[in-house]
Amino acid sequence: MESELIAYLRERLPPHPSLRLGAGDDAAILSLGESSDAVVTVDMLMDGVDFRLDEVAPRRVGRKSLAVNLSDLAAMAAEPVAAVVALALPKQGGMALAKSLYEGILPLAAEFDVAIAGGDTNSWDGPLVISITAIGSVKAIKTANSTSTAWRRSGARPGDLLLATGEFGGSILGKHFDFTPRLREARILAERYEIHAAIDVSDGLAIDASRLAAESRCGVCLNLASIPIAPAAAELARQSPHDESPLDHALGDGEDFELLLAVDPETAARMLAEQPLSIPLTAIGEFLSEPGLWQRAEAGNITPLEPRGYLHHFE
Ligand SMILES: [Mg+2]
Repeated sequence: MESELIAYLRERLPPHPSLRLGAGDDAAILSLGESSDAVVTVDMLMDGVDFRLDEVAPRRVGRKSLAVNLSDLAAMAAEPVAAVVALALPKQGGMALAKSLYEGILPLAAEFDVAIAGGDTNSWDGPLVISITAIGSVKAIKTANSTSTAWRRSGARPGDLLLATGEFGGSILGKHFDFTPRLREARILAERYEIHAAIDVSDGLAIDASRLAAESRCGVCLNLASIPIAPAAAELARQSPHDESPLDHALGDGEDFELLLAVDPETAARMLAEQPLSIPLTAIGEFLSEPGLWQRAEAGNITPLEPRGYLHHFE
């Protein structure tokens, strides 16, 4: 079955300038250029945990598996180069399922010029598990504070503003599968502005903002009135039986896959005035020397904020 899938993929996969040797050998060979560093990220999605195949088309699952990795590359300001795909397929209907997954993976790979460099396929009596590893490149540079042009989580400074792309909340109504990884936006911002630190919002605006601050050894205060709330967050607040406001959804839902950025106030003012992206760029808070996550209410007073969001639980 695996050889049939490889034959199918060899027909489907276009050539790629970075791919010296693709699927079919023991390993792939990538060219990253002379002065580049590789950026590597992996994500695993499981039927019954991260999605339910009886509720969602496999094509969307395949697309999302690649998109979450591309979002992580965007958060590092890395150019995507290649990805490898590992599948644990249920024995029943595995081949048809694999092809459907690739119907979602391949168009997204083509859109962002990502070579599918290979992978591994097993079958078992369990549910579908799909894991994609993506490889990106950043310019290698040797300066006192940095070894490459990659954005990290650790560079925010007290006084920096927290900027966000796009809108937040209610992603469960569709965006969590169909989001566009912010690679184009990251490229534009990295070319034009000095970004101190960045993260993509996977688990939740509040918790991911607090992670950015913690890695930078400072705190962050969110201006609640400034947070761009997605129409889906309001829609979900109307639908849900719980007592959660659209703002609650924006802070805690997660899987928005927007970028959070730390920039100095002068740069932030320029970015906000220029609005260089096709989606809004909004200042939603500021970094503080006091550690922790804080909120500023409309009255102006600052109080602690619970870092809401999705946490993976295991013992
Ligand atoms: Mg991430």
